[in-house]
Amino acid sequence: MTPDNPWNFGRDVIDRYAQERPDALALSMMHNDTNVLLTFQDISRLSGQTADWLKAQGIGKGDRVLIVLGKDPAFWPVMVALNKLGAVAMPGTTQLTAKDLLYRLQVSQATSAIVLPEIADKLQDEALHLTHPIVVGGARPHWISFDPYHLDNPVFEGFPTDSSDPTLIYFTSGTTGYPKMVLHNQRYPEAHTITAQYWLGLSQDDLHWNISDTGWAKAAWSSLFGPWMVGAAIFVDNMTGKFDPQQFLHILSTHPITSVCAPPTVYRLVVKEDLSLWTFPHLKSAVSAGEPLNPEVIQIFKQATGLDIRDGYGQTETVLLIGNTPGQPIKPGSMGRPAPEFEMTVIDHQGVPLPPGQEGDIAIKVHPKRPRGLFQGYVNDEEGTQKRFVGDYYITGDRAIVDEDGYFWFVGRADDVIISSGYRIGPFEVESLLVERPEVLEAAVVSSPDPIRGEIVKAFVVLKPGIEPSAALAETLQNHVKTQTAPYKYPRAIEFVTDLPKTVSGKIRRIELRQKEWEKAKKTP
Ligand code: ATP
Ligand code: MG
Repeated sequence: MTPDNPWNFGRDVIDRYAQERPDALALSMMHNDTNVLLTFQDISRLSGQTADWLKAQGIGKGDRVLIVLGKDPAFWPVMVALNKLGAVAMPGTTQLTAKDLLYRLQVSQATSAIVLPEIADKLQDEALHLTHPIVVGGARPHWISFDPYHLDNPVFEGFPTDSSDPTLIYFTSGTTGYPKMVLHNQRYPEAHTITAQYWLGLSQDDLHWNISDTGWAKAAWSSLFGPWMVGAAIFVDNMTGKFDPQQFLHILSTHPITSVCAPPTVYRLVVKEDLSLWTFPHLKSAVSAGEPLNPEVIQIFKQATGLDIRDGYGQTETVLLIGNTPGQPIKPGSMGRPAPEFEMTVIDHQGVPLPPGQEGDIAIKVHPKRPRGLFQGYVNDEEGTQKRFVGDYYITGDRAIVDEDGYFWFVGRADDVIISSGYRIGPFEVESLLVERPEVLEAAVVSSPDPIRGEIVKAFVVLKPGIEPSAALAETLQNHVKTQTAPYKYPRAIEFVTDLPKTVSGKIRRIELRQKEWEKAKKTP
């Protein structure tokens, strides 16, 4: 049956580029000790051969396939092949535990998995229950070994899919609770043109590096669909283990990378290095997303490199929603302005848009027209999906203020906002002031119970190596916040810690700190 609205990323984008610009660079990968370069023609052929191989195994339209390949070169041909087959890829990160993996397989009812050997090891007992257990880069009992780079299969072009057909399931980061399963349709890759053009600012001459693992939706934004929608090339690093700022800076200065995307946690560590020792001869653009980006970090990076870090805001459920487009004046601390095609606003609890200067829920107008790039829904969770919609709007769950110029200022996740003596306090502003201090590496600000004020602001602070915690330092930090912003926001309690609880993707889990504070208070009469 011919689809009403045919669209398929593999066929309509990759195979088309393979014809129009066959020799253009698509992927530059650091792999073992070499740098592997692949053109769009290579990706088209490799994904076509992989599609033929997967089809011969019995994987087809609508089948859900768990993908855990990290930055292995197999990730790209496999993802495009599954898209061509109309199968539903369900990427996960290499840091998932056996329990996480089983949870994902169970709730998604995935019948197949294409994973690295270390992931197959975590799924030993599960292999027998999977219809297609496939391992890349090694051999394991009960697993079929596969290498997309050494196939002699013919090229299979795939099926014409409909725009509304499902193509991807991503799990959210799990910052506020259990990760949610987000279903996207075939139009989602196409909608990342918005991400690539208006935020990443990529063109066909660019080499874009996104450092995140391929298991997150961020990879769809920045390591797969975004750059390839506009014909730019993707750079893939081989960094493993704990993030090392020196290694990051070395890669950025020695490869012809023109554009880089990293989360604020990375930039926060990078700007604590001596950046005057490095040059980045090719770099033209730096962007950040995933968490709020502290203004101080933008300023230091700019002094050292001449570049603004351009913040962008969105979710696993969406493409880019708000961002700083290339060339737009930056207001450090603001997420920027709405992306084209999205009517973004902040609304009150009744779904009424608020005037500039008032804090509300960040919302996307979805009536009368639902914008492309917004998820189909949470898998197996109709109720959870419906909760996201109020009146004509989709609610992101984040709070912000819009200024007179239309710039959005992130206040915090709705649950993270602190209400003390009747004042509403967003953790982000206080955290940003704390990290301005030279002694501070990272900070997380949460509510803590207080018999008089109801809640107070409490800061958990990680100090830079070599700095000792003391009552005097706590007071210095408190005074700094008091003098830089309305004094009611200063952290009445400060606890020095060696690290902060984070998601595997590196986001601060304030919920964990907050829960501990409130449980502690319950126990102490
Ligand atoms: P979960 O939904 O499971 O709790 P999560 O919301 O962290 O996890 P993601 O979809 O990866 O999962 O992240 C989207 C969220 O990240 C946004 O809703 C917002 O809270 C935060 N975020 C993303 N970009 C920015 C940004 N530029 N500034 C501030 N916050 C951001
Ligand atoms: Mg979320």
